[in-house]
Amino acid sequence: MMKYDIVIIGAGVAGLYAAINLPVSKKVLVINKLRPWECNTFYAQGGVTTARDESDIPVHIRDTIEAGAGLCDEEAVAVLSNSSRDVVSDLITRGFEFDKDDEGRLLYTKEAAHSQDRILHAGGDGTGRHLHHFLLQQNPHPMLADATVIDLLIDDGEACGVVVDYQGERRSIRASQVIIASGGLGSLFEYHTNAFKISGDLQGICLEKGIELENMEMLQFHPTVYVGNNSAQKQLLSEALRGEGAVVEDETGHRFLADYDERAELAPRDIVSRAIFDHMKKSGLQVYLSFEKFDYAYFQHRFPNIHSKLYDLGFDLPKQRVPISPAFHYAIGGIKTNLYGEVESVKGLFAIGEVASTGVHGANRLASNSLLEGLVFAKRAAEKIVTCESTKCPTELPILDAVLELDGDKAKKDELRRIMWENVSIVRTQQGLSEAKEAIEAMLNGEIGRLLRLRLLTAKSIVDSAIQRKTSIGAHYIS
Ligand SMILES: Cc1cc2nc3c(=O)[nH]c(=O)nc-3n(C[C@H](O)[C@H](O)[C@H](O)COP(=O)(O)OP(=O)(O)OC[C@H]3O[C@@H](n4cnc5c(N)ncnc54)[C@H](O)[C@@H]3O)c2cc1C
Repeated sequence: MMKYDIVIIGAGVAGLYAAINLPVSKKVLVINKLRPWECNTFYAQGGVTTARDESDIPVHIRDTIEAGAGLCDEEAVAVLSNSSRDVVSDLITRGFEFDKDDEGRLLYTKEAAHSQDRILHAGGDGTGRHLHHFLLQQNPHPMLADATVIDLLIDDGEACGVVVDYQGERRSIRASQVIIASGGLGSLFEYHTNAFKISGDLQGICLEKGIELENMEMLQFHPTVYVGNNSAQKQLLSEALRGEGAVVEDETGHRFLADYDERAELAPRDIVSRAIFDHMKKSGLQVYLSFEKFDYAYFQHRFPNIHSKLYDLGFDLPKQRVPISPAFHYAIGGIKTNLYGEVESVKGLFAIGEVASTGVHGANRLASNSLLEGLVFAKRAAEKIVTCESTKCPTELPILDAVLELDGDKAKKDELRRIMWENVSIVRTQQGLSEAKEAIEAMLNGEIGRLLRLRLLTAKSIVDSAIQRKTSIGAHYIS
């Protein structure tokens, strides 16, 4: 049995920034599921939001609350925005380089529903990979890669550690404090932009333990995704492209978005996603993202990753337009926490980043607020944790022995992905949701492995929350 003071589940922005903010006097272990870079953080393109200056804080707060359609926790939003300049300057002081102009001034860009340019980026459209690489280098604590957390050890309301599957072996890793930073749930959907194996495992484990999740029906679908590639992870075409002049048009060249919302390309993501979905359905026409306004050299410099990824897929941008579709992108809801990332029902348990629900996004996330949320709440959780007493766990605790995967699980996972995409995505109906619930429950009642069970539990909680929310709001649209 391995023993630590603090175990962090996840090595994305939230897990790593928490680790960096924990002193080396603490025995800390950072666990991740596969290769260290396989996380949503690595794939982030657009950037990190920050209030430009003190006067921008109330404006950023207002933009965030408006995007959240009235469901944001306003105190959490204030914490997010008030802390934004501190975490950004901490990164810069540690040596992280955001993109700058020729005079050395930080370059800010704009994304949908922001009332001003306030998004910092790095490596053009490579913010995620630059930030992730930097955080990995800064982390002073050991990491355990290729280890899947399959259970939380909790005794008498106190966190005691985790159970992992490491190279086919089951291990108990004990810790007085556990930080869940395991990200979202893209693998539940047929079309998604998420990293491989981001599959809502920890949300499922929390449901088993009776830990509260909230706003699970609030899922963000990105409107501009190239879905023609073969892998489950589809190629995102960042919002920053529309922010800087890319336009959405159908195959006849008609720019139909203004028929749905006067902000057209810069309307919030859910509005653009629904407009594309509806226009495709009504007209039967393919929809494209077009880059005519861009200069070739500028495009290559500003969006190097998108340029090379799409080039490999057969498109020469900005000369050619790209066929697009909406795809699942971001989990707004998650494990309910307080403003320090604490899961209040379990002493010593924290949740941060995309897996958590701090209330900052309400019913819809403002673009590029999620890397910021990961940074801000990771730091707050780390600061809180060092003041916490150790939990008093017994030496012996039973370790789960369920089989991880059974024959037939792969086909059921694919079936789940199809059900979620068809019935629980951009436009939902009560009938579609009921059918999804029935199919998920039938699978849960059959012979299945542990990993599929966790996905199904998370999917069921999304469907149950969507059924309970009878009217459309934010990212939840019910027709
Ligand atoms: C393509 C793309 C582009 C994006 N662009 C932006 C952007 O420009 N700006 C922005 O603010 N946001 C963006 N987002 C959203 C943002 O990247 C994520 O919300 C954020 O990075 C999540 O960070 P995280 O640390 O919570 O999780 P992640 O970075 O996803 O990390 C999760 C970690 O948990 C580990 N893990 C998961 N399950 C287990 C398990 N069972 N056992 C052990 N380890 C586990 C994983 O291995 C991984 O290390 C984008 C997302 C995507 C997918």
